[in-house]
Amino acid sequence: MNNHLKIVCPQCQQDNTFSSPSNKPVACSNCGAPLPADAPVIALKAPIGIRLLEISSQRTFEIKFFHTAFLGRQEIGQNFFQDNTISRRHCMVKISKDQYWVVDVGSTHGTFLIVNGETINCKESVLLADNSILVLGEAGYKINIMY
Ligand SMILES: [Zn+2]
Repeated sequence: MNNHLKIVCPQCQQDNTFSSPSNKPVACSNCGAPLPADAPVIALKAPIGIRLLEISSQRTFEIKFFHTAFLGRQEIGQNFFQDNTISRRHCMVKISKDQYWVVDVGSTHGTFLIVNGETINCKESVLLADNSILVLGEAGYKINIMY
């Protein structure tokens, strides 16, 4: 996989590139200075889609798109989204400035995003962060951004 993320070293300004959040460098490859855990991660490439992992079943589903997609039991993923608490048209995912955003589109049971243990109601657009948990009705999906 190509490196598509980078952290700029606060000491020497060197770009430290890496391929996924799980192999984020902890020290600068140039000067050896520690890279702060909260240093901004900069995307070098635009994302091409998202991967959903259904937590209850471990099934995965990939959506590749560049603008907007409606998810639900009669929309994109209709064979994947089988939980009865998921509406036919449940939520919308859109891309803006190389990031994905999710918003509920009037579903019966709601759309929520769990980020760092905090549950956010997606009545308004919420940033669909990598490794967050998307909750549609009563079904939870781990999100991974694909590059
Ligand atoms: Zn450095």
